[in-house]
Amino acid sequence: MTPRRAVIDACLRMERLGINQGTSGNVSVRTPSGCLITPSGVDYQTMTPAQVVHIDFAGNVLGSPRGASREVRPSTEWRMHTDIYGHFDDAGAIVHAHPPHATALACQGRGIPPFHYMVAVAGGTDIRCARYATFGTSELSSHMIEALDGRRACLLANHGIICFHEDLDRALALAAEVETLARQYLLALVIGEPKRLGRKQMAEVVEKFKGYGRRD
Ligand code: 13P
Ligand code: ZN
Repeated sequence: MTPRRAVIDACLRMERLGINQGTSGNVSVRTPSGCLITPSGVDYQTMTPAQVVHIDFAGNVLGSPRGASREVRPSTEWRMHTDIYGHFDDAGAIVHAHPPHATALACQGRGIPPFHYMVAVAGGTDIRCARYATFGTSELSSHMIEALDGRRACLLANHGIICFHEDLDRALALAAEVETLARQYLLALVIGEPKRLGRKQMAEVVEKFKGYGRRD
């Protein structure tokens, strides 16, 4: 599969997983000169590889393939994507989505505390919620970078989530996991604030996750 096709495939998988819908959210993969990012406001069902936009780290559109539509523009959130690639060397792919449960928490300005050990999949003892700013702004991106310190995922207040990983499969799996954790947390909250794991207990899991799933 070409990288452009893989970007569209990841968008369609987001829909199938129930973590995104319509033209919400966006996906990108790193390239040597920037990233391949979904176009703004294009339905995933009709998106073509030629519409996936190649941009540099300043958001400039690089050469488009033959047959590319001139009407498409890179995602309005290109700055969140390029800022992640600039800050995190191990970021190879990014998924931004508006999943229902994680977004419900983000609309309360709440992140996900260490109520379950799986919270450590995002790299730390909690998953923070970035402060609110208008979508597509550099202000939103700088709030996101603040919330991602030491993490691969964060919630975005009154908006959704953003996750990165080494490749698309893992970034998507992380996005699905964040949504599952948010759902579990909301369910647990129904009968009161759940018991939280301690700093030491979470530090042990964070450490254990560093080698998790690796054969070597
Ligand atoms: P784009 O269609 O421009 O990627 O915007 C979707 C979105 O989720 C904005 O936050
Ligand atoms: Zn969004």
